[in-house]
Amino acid sequence: MVKRQYAVIGLGRFGVSVARKLYEAGHDVLGIDCNEERVEDVEIAVTHAVVADTTEEKALISIGIRNFDCVIVAIGNDMQSSILTVMLLKEFGVKKVIAKALGKHHGRVLEKIGADWIIYPERDMGERVANQLLSPNMLNYIELSKEFNIEEILIPLSMAEKSLRELDIRAKYNVSVIAIVREGEIIVSPSSDQIIHKGDLLVVIGNREDLAEFSNIE
Ligand code: ADP
Repeated sequence: MVKRQYAVIGLGRFGVSVARKLYEAGHDVLGIDCNEERVEDVEIAVTHAVVADTTEEKALISIGIRNFDCVIVAIGNDMQSSILTVMLLKEFGVKKVIAKALGKHHGRVLEKIGADWIIYPERDMGERVANQLLSPNMLNYIELSKEFNIEEILIPLSMAEKSLRELDIRAKYNVSVIAIVREGEIIVSPSSDQIIHKGDLLVVIGNREDLAEFSNIE
């Protein structure tokens, strides 16, 4: 695995959970917050943590922010600080800046000043919950475009102990199986002889309507 250097600015609930996951995955993570208590609290979940106000150029220079592969701006309610921080990071030439937006207007400003990826945690989580309710067998998904998704779908019992050839999923449902997840192991590009077992997850690609139909089979 390539070890990457991440910095997470703003150590609230969102920032800490991003930082902790990246650190647990083996990457170097620097946590930054202007609030000393937050920095002390996060110290065991990151490689290193510092107190700094990231709206100050000098602070960013002394941290050496240019050397990070990716910086996540997880500043919460202080929109002005979030915008100023993203602007400075882009001016410093940080390659990948990910920023959390409070809403549409904040997001539009972040986009204009060059944030590479804007996250709307509340909106995105709301959509996830609704999608999960609409398709109970769908456990996870990636949006490829407005039309196409990759989804991880728990196989319906009616499909257990049959081969992919017998199931003929592409012809019947217009979606393609790209992998099977079985007890945590991934079988990539499964052959048509592969038998599907109870509890398997199918990773399928297709358009959303076809996927919705497929993930609602009993
Ligand atoms: P959440 O909703 O994810 O819990 P919060 O608003 O509680 O988010 O957390 C945002 C964090 O960002 C706070 O800990 C705050 O101290 C930090 N923060 C705000 N402005 C700055 C700044 N200019 N520089 C560094 N950290 C900042």
